[in-house]
Amino acid sequence: MCETTVRAELLLPTSTTSPRAARAFARESECAEHATCLLDEALLLVSELVTNAVRHGAPPILVAMECDGSGLRIHVRDGDVALPQQRQALADDEGGRGLALLEALSDAWGVEPVADEHGVGKAVWFELRMPDQGPRARAFAGPV
Ligand SMILES: [Zn+2]
Repeated sequence: MCETTVRAELLLPTSTTSPRAARAFARESECAEHATCLLDEALLLVSELVTNAVRHGAPPILVAMECDGSGLRIHVRDGDVALPQQRQALADDEGGRGLALLEALSDAWGVEPVADEHGVGKAVWFELRMPDQGPRARAFAGPV
Protein backbone atom coordinates (compact mmCIF):
# COMPACT_ATOMS: atom_id res chain seq x y z
CA MET A 1 0.00 0.00 0.00
CA CYS A 2 1.44 3.37 -1.04
CA GLU A 3 0.50 6.54 0.81
CA THR A 4 2.32 8.84 -1.62
CA THR A 5 0.67 8.13 -4.94
CA VAL A 6 -2.92 7.21 -5.66
CA ARG A 7 -4.09 4.83 -8.36
CA ALA A 8 -4.37 6.65 -11.70
CA GLU A 9 -6.45 5.79 -14.75
CA LEU A 10 -6.48 7.06 -18.31
CA LEU A 11 -9.08 6.36 -20.98
CA LEU A 12 -7.60 6.31 -24.50
CA PRO A 13 -9.07 6.43 -28.00
CA THR A 14 -8.28 3.77 -30.60
CA SER A 15 -5.63 5.97 -32.16
CA THR A 16 -2.03 5.73 -33.28
CA THR A 17 -1.24 8.56 -30.85
CA SER A 18 -2.49 6.55 -27.86
CA PRO A 19 0.79 4.75 -27.09
CA ARG A 20 2.50 8.15 -26.79
CA ALA A 21 -0.33 9.47 -24.60
CA ALA A 22 -0.05 6.35 -22.42
CA ARG A 23 3.70 6.89 -21.97
CA ALA A 24 3.13 10.52 -20.95
CA PHE A 25 0.47 9.39 -18.49
CA ALA A 26 2.74 6.73 -16.98
CA ARG A 27 5.57 9.23 -16.63
CA GLU A 28 3.30 11.68 -14.80
CA SER A 29 1.56 9.09 -12.64
CA GLU A 30 4.48 7.00 -11.45
CA CYS A 31 5.27 7.10 -7.77
CA ALA A 32 8.23 9.44 -7.18
CA GLU A 33 8.97 7.83 -3.84
CA HIS A 34 8.99 4.16 -4.76
CA ALA A 35 8.93 3.53 -8.46
CA THR A 36 11.37 5.82 -10.29
CA CYS A 37 13.79 2.96 -10.93
CA LEU A 38 10.98 1.03 -12.64
CA LEU A 39 9.91 3.77 -15.01
CA ASP A 40 11.89 2.73 -18.11
CA GLU A 41 10.44 -0.80 -18.06
CA ALA A 42 6.97 0.54 -17.24
CA LEU A 43 7.02 2.98 -20.17
CA LEU A 44 8.20 0.32 -22.61
CA LEU A 45 5.58 -2.21 -21.54
CA VAL A 46 2.72 0.30 -21.37
CA SER A 47 3.60 1.49 -24.86
CA GLU A 48 3.66 -2.07 -26.25
CA LEU A 49 0.39 -3.08 -24.60
CA VAL A 50 -1.44 0.03 -25.74
CA THR A 51 -0.07 -0.49 -29.26
CA ASN A 52 -1.46 -4.03 -29.20
CA ALA A 53 -4.81 -2.82 -27.85
CA VAL A 54 -5.05 -0.19 -30.62
CA ARG A 55 -4.11 -2.67 -33.36
CA HIS A 56 -5.87 -5.82 -32.20
CA GLY A 57 -8.28 -4.85 -29.44
CA ALA A 58 -11.46 -2.81 -29.23
CA PRO A 59 -12.43 0.41 -27.45
CA PRO A 60 -12.54 1.54 -24.75
CA ILE A 61 -8.83 1.30 -23.94
CA LEU A 62 -8.02 2.07 -20.34
CA VAL A 63 -4.62 2.23 -18.66
CA ALA A 64 -4.48 2.01 -14.87
CA MET A 65 -1.36 2.37 -12.76
CA GLU A 66 -0.80 1.94 -9.06
CA CYS A 67 2.08 1.78 -6.61
CA ASP A 68 1.83 -0.59 -3.67
CA GLY A 69 4.90 0.74 -1.86
CA SER A 70 7.36 -1.80 -3.27
CA GLY A 71 6.51 -1.86 -6.93
CA LEU A 72 4.09 -0.97 -9.68
CA ARG A 73 0.99 -2.73 -10.87
CA ILE A 74 -0.26 -1.62 -14.26
CA HIS A 75 -3.10 -2.87 -16.36
CA VAL A 76 -4.20 -2.14 -19.89
CA ARG A 77 -7.79 -2.98 -20.58
CA ASP A 78 -9.62 -3.03 -23.89
CA GLY A 79 -13.11 -3.92 -25.04
CA ASP A 80 -12.21 -7.09 -26.94
CA VAL A 81 -13.16 -10.21 -24.99
CA ALA A 82 -10.87 -12.53 -26.98
CA LEU A 83 -7.88 -13.44 -24.81
CA PRO A 84 -4.56 -13.63 -26.64
CA GLN A 85 -3.16 -17.15 -26.74
CA GLN A 86 0.25 -16.78 -25.22
CA ARG A 87 1.94 -19.47 -27.29
CA GLN A 88 0.56 -18.17 -30.57
CA ALA A 89 1.18 -14.56 -29.67
CA LEU A 90 4.80 -15.20 -28.72
CA ALA A 91 5.36 -16.80 -32.12
CA ASP A 92 3.65 -13.93 -33.93
CA ASP A 93 6.00 -10.97 -34.37
CA GLU A 94 3.25 -8.44 -34.95
CA GLY A 95 1.00 -8.98 -31.93
CA GLY A 96 3.37 -10.95 -29.77
CA ARG A 97 6.15 -8.52 -29.06
CA GLY A 98 4.26 -7.02 -26.14
CA LEU A 99 3.69 -10.38 -24.47
CA ALA A 100 7.28 -11.50 -25.11
CA LEU A 101 8.49 -8.28 -23.46
CA LEU A 102 6.14 -8.84 -20.52
CA GLU A 103 7.61 -12.29 -20.07
CA ALA A 104 11.13 -10.88 -20.20
CA LEU A 105 10.78 -7.69 -18.15
CA SER A 106 7.91 -8.00 -15.68
CA ASP A 107 7.97 -9.81 -12.35
CA ALA A 108 4.44 -11.13 -12.88
CA TRP A 109 1.83 -10.72 -15.59
CA GLY A 110 -1.41 -12.17 -16.83
CA VAL A 111 -4.43 -11.70 -19.04
CA GLU A 112 -7.93 -11.90 -17.65
CA PRO A 113 -11.50 -11.21 -18.74
CA VAL A 114 -13.07 -8.13 -17.16
CA ALA A 115 -16.59 -6.76 -16.79
CA ASP A 116 -16.89 -3.32 -15.25
CA GLU A 117 -18.46 0.09 -15.80
CA HIS A 118 -16.84 0.21 -19.26
CA GLY A 119 -18.52 -3.03 -20.33
CA VAL A 120 -16.87 -6.37 -21.00
CA GLY A 121 -13.36 -6.85 -22.27
CA LYS A 122 -9.98 -8.12 -21.21
CA ALA A 123 -7.16 -6.74 -19.15
CA VAL A 124 -3.47 -7.42 -19.54
CA TRP A 125 -1.76 -6.68 -16.21
CA PHE A 126 1.81 -6.74 -15.02
CA GLU A 127 3.85 -6.01 -11.93
CA LEU A 128 7.30 -4.53 -11.65
CA ARG A 129 9.00 -4.97 -8.29
CA MET A 130 11.75 -2.73 -7.03
CA PRO A 131 15.13 -4.42 -7.04
CA ASP A 132 16.55 -4.88 -3.57
CA GLN A 133 19.33 -2.29 -3.63
CA GLY A 134 20.66 -1.81 -0.16
CA PRO A 135 19.07 -0.59 3.08
CA ARG A 136 17.04 2.20 1.49
CA ALA A 137 15.24 -0.15 -0.88
CA ARG A 138 14.80 -2.72 1.86
CA ALA A 139 13.27 -0.13 4.18
CA PHE A 140 10.70 0.78 1.54
CA ALA A 141 9.84 -2.85 0.98
CA GLY A 142 8.74 -3.12 4.60
CA PRO A 143 8.62 -6.23 6.77
CA VAL A 144 8.86 -9.55 4.94
ZN1 LIG B 1 4.67 4.57 -3.95
